[in-house]
Amino acid sequence: MSDSEINITRRGLMLVLSSPSGAGKTTLSRRLLDSDPELTMSISATTRHPRRGEIDGKDYYFLTTEDFGIMRNKGEFLESAKVFDNYYGTPRGPVEEALKAGRDVLFDIDWQGTQQLTENAKGDLVKVFILPPSAYELERRLKTRAQDSDEVVARRMEEASEEISHYSEYEYIIVNDDVDNTFRELQAILHAERLRLERQTGLSNFVKRLRDAL
Ligand code: 5GP
Repeated sequence: MSDSEINITRRGLMLVLSSPSGAGKTTLSRRLLDSDPELTMSISATTRHPRRGEIDGKDYYFLTTEDFGIMRNKGEFLESAKVFDNYYGTPRGPVEEALKAGRDVLFDIDWQGTQQLTENAKGDLVKVFILPPSAYELERRLKTRAQDSDEVVARRMEEASEEISHYSEYEYIIVNDDVDNTFRELQAILHAERLRLERQTGLSNFVKRLRDAL
């Protein structure tokens, strides 16, 4: 059997990336998605207004507070939380479909959502927290993004401290000092986690065939 014929069925994993706003999560998520065809993004719903350049259905599903409430009451979110002054939630359907198909799903969600997923889907979760290298750098990144008012930036700096206080609820912690390094570290985590025994559901068949042939 050549390597190219080896295709061991595996269960998809849920890769959660959390960090304070401005720590580089969005850039890292995009790079990871572009580099890895087996990974799909979970597109969240939110009641916040779109930033310049954000597209409905691609960056978020932008909903009214009323529509968000209807979805939440119908149990259509895997998790949901209030972050800053807005509601955010992960639509359940697309995630369940992707996992079933053996694809991995990337989540950009906060600590509250991560806690909820830990209760509901512990075995499928891989939790990564990205720390900014310094307070100065975080503020610089928030300001150069220039999409939020000074007031919002100041508020996000305050909220960063709260988000960071939850770092120890995660399994992997990366200080994003250099985006290329952080990206490689994230790839390494993803690749290693895919190889876990319990995720490789087709392994027993593969090993049986292997041993039969010995
Ligand atoms: P932003 O408004 O900057 O896009 O996101 C603000 C915060 O909300 C970020 O920390 C982001 O991770 C979090 N967030 C985005 N989508 C979701 C979601 O579906 N659920 C939860 N719990 N948090 C989310």
